[in-house]
Amino acid sequence: MSAAAEIFPRAAKATRVADLRADFPALATQVNGKPLAYLDNAASTQRPQPVMDALRRYEVEMHANVHRGLHARSDQATAAFEGARKRTCAWLNAASAEEIVFTRGATESINLVARCMDARMGADSEILLTQMEHHSNIVPWQQLRERTGARIRVAPVLDSGALDLKALERLIGRNLKLIAVAHVSNAMGVINPVAEICRMARQAGVPVLIDGAQAAGHIPLDVQELGCDFYALSGHKMYAPTGIGALYARRPWLEEMPPFLGGGEMILEVRFDGTRYNAPPHKFEAGTPNISGAIGLGAAMDYLAAHGLERLAAIEHELLEYATERLDGIPGLRIIGTAAPKSAVVSFVMEDIHPHDLGTILDHEGVAIRAGHHCAMPLMERFGVPGTSRASFSFYNTRDEIDRLAGGIETARKLFG
Ligand code: PMP
Repeated sequence: MSAAAEIFPRAAKATRVADLRADFPALATQVNGKPLAYLDNAASTQRPQPVMDALRRYEVEMHANVHRGLHARSDQATAAFEGARKRTCAWLNAASAEEIVFTRGATESINLVARCMDARMGADSEILLTQMEHHSNIVPWQQLRERTGARIRVAPVLDSGALDLKALERLIGRNLKLIAVAHVSNAMGVINPVAEICRMARQAGVPVLIDGAQAAGHIPLDVQELGCDFYALSGHKMYAPTGIGALYARRPWLEEMPPFLGGGEMILEVRFDGTRYNAPPHKFEAGTPNISGAIGLGAAMDYLAAHGLERLAAIEHELLEYATERLDGIPGLRIIGTAAPKSAVVSFVMEDIHPHDLGTILDHEGVAIRAGHHCAMPLMERFGVPGTSRASFSFYNTRDEIDRLAGGIETARKLFG
């Protein structure tokens, strides 16, 4: 068996949510003396045992530095690390594993592209974002604006939370150099029509970067079918460890773009009068990479694939429908982002209750949600709210946990009402 195959054991097919939950030891813990109801999955998901097992096996049986190739352990570590790259390539259906660059997460993936685009940008150039972007898909472009003078255009969001696609289309003009758009809004769960955006962009010869941080563990992906140029993802939002993520970039971009960081691994030859860079993807991976993180990411993808991402997504959709129905019935509660299709996120505001107060009351009940601006301040401004409360679900959540969420909100309403 190859090293990669050894550390990515196939997870047994579970048929019931209870069996899936049993794979996640964190879900059996208590907080504040209550069983944990973990409804903060858009911030970070919990890790299943097979991912933790793969990490442990790597640490005990395989750890060494990669691409150094002089002893068996290094060969094994390299095979496992490159196996994870192949796994990520298959997950995204990229044309080749060389189109996958490992990063620290979606944030670094987007920064990498933004930092490597300077040569294409001038004072007339435009970057098109949307009003619902995460700060990770805004600030790197503002930094690019500071370096190059390029302008940022923003496609608006409708009252339903849907992207105003017609307005976006009108913003595709002669000077547009890139569209950078979230696949799924982290603050609302709204799923953007990224295939349609890519189609419109292609007609205008404009590249598209998709911020897939909220999509990659919940929606089956095919970057070739989508027709995007770049796709960014984060491991910790798809059941893998923190500090690992990936950037998919079509090969011509990786050839054209200059390296992001300089150092070891990304070179072929270094002399004081000049350096020859390594081929992609290594050209963009300076220094010793997060080997165990990449292996954990591959194991997480294997776990999701073994259970069937479509099937897991169907469970999440059912939870979304139940939660929407339960919360919609609570007086004074307004859901932000009602447009279909949505991933399993319910973001809401309560009359007379600050999201932080609600979050604290729920925490006392063992219910973990996120409260605040969700790193999407421009979207909060769009809806005229300082922040929202956000419950975000994974296939391992239950109706009972949603009932506990609704019960906690009712308690808060009585306290503050
Ligand atoms: N984009 C979106 C839509 C996100 O939800 C997040 C994480 N909240 C990010 C980017 C950044 O991801 P990370 O911090 O893992 O790099």
